[in-house]
Amino acid sequence: MEMNIQTPFERIKDRPFLITGPCSAETEEQVLKVAQTMSDLQIPVDLFRAGIWKPRTRPNNFEGIGYEGLQWLKKVKEQYGYKVTTEVANANHVFEALKASIDVLWLGARTTVNPFSVQDVADALRGVDIPVFIKNPINPDLKLWMGAIERIYNAGITKIGVVHRGFSKHGHSIYRNVPLWQIPIEMRREFPDLFMICDSSHICGTREYLYEVSQTALDLNYDGLMLESHIDPDNAWSDAKQQVTPFDLKEKILSRLVMRDPGSDDQEFKANIEDLRTRIDSIDKELITMLANRMKISEEIGRYKSQNNIAILQADRWNEIIDKSMHQAGPLGLSEEFIGRFLKAVHQESINHQKAVMKPIKTTESA
Ligand code: PEP
Ligand code: MN
Repeated sequence: MEMNIQTPFERIKDRPFLITGPCSAETEEQVLKVAQTMSDLQIPVDLFRAGIWKPRTRPNNFEGIGYEGLQWLKKVKEQYGYKVTTEVANANHVFEALKASIDVLWLGARTTVNPFSVQDVADALRGVDIPVFIKNPINPDLKLWMGAIERIYNAGITKIGVVHRGFSKHGHSIYRNVPLWQIPIEMRREFPDLFMICDSSHICGTREYLYEVSQTALDLNYDGLMLESHIDPDNAWSDAKQQVTPFDLKEKILSRLVMRDPGSDDQEFKANIEDLRTRIDSIDKELITMLANRMKISEEIGRYKSQNNIAILQADRWNEIIDKSMHQAGPLGLSEEFIGRFLKAVHQESINHQKAVMKPIKTTESA
């Protein structure tokens, strides 16, 4: 489908476009204090965010302050001159947000995932001229993400940006939502000029990797970042672990970020290499996490064997692992020699972990 999407904001050369503010608007004082502190610290806030209606995974968590909070965002706008944005998930949210003169709207990951909801929001936006950001759906489905863009565009909205906030996962990962960088990269191949924001906060889920993920996004030529910031992050009513104070936002993240040199001749080459390296790095991280998980299971087996007085090394089981893996590896283009060496190293490490948790057997000498 031919689309003529316009950039919702001018691209900034020497720093990322910044969407920041608390996960949720909690009280008037909290919202205004975040804005005041950002203003005092001279943080370049391009869009001040706060969730008014919160989609929570389970009920009985704080589900947003609702309508009243829109007035606090309006005050942020009046008092600090920041443009403001909030998440909308249905037609009623759109009407309320527009009534309160919210400058920019965004669709959350749990809305993008549902074409009925996206259509409902799109219909409410008909005839309105407002920039809209569309977060990726929670599942890694590029077409669904594109479908949401098309629905909003078809309603007459032309200033559209996207927000990459990572994807739900099964099992353990260092991320709350795995980035799967290849999906937003694919998106940009489809729409080369799309204004793209990385929501490092929801990818990470904790403060630890916010800087690293944000830098990766800039290395991949994203236009900007969404970073949640709260005056008292540990006591935030939602997403406490991933929020940072405005001070830390400035000192620990923004001031350390490096922009890529846009003047280079082989920009495309560099971007492609960066893309491939990022994918390798993310696979390596997953590999190490998976190996650590494997060792935890080995330890459990070790404990179990110990309780039942069974020896660690069981040749049949070891042969079975080797056989199965060789069968899998061959057709995937991995050499038997490599898989053999790899599995032996993994197996040795497993034995070490098992040994560590097994109770020492008393010998007659030591008894
Ligand atoms: C949020 O931005 O606070 C939010 C709920 O994000 P997401 O839709 O990415 O989960
Ligand atoms: Mn949040």
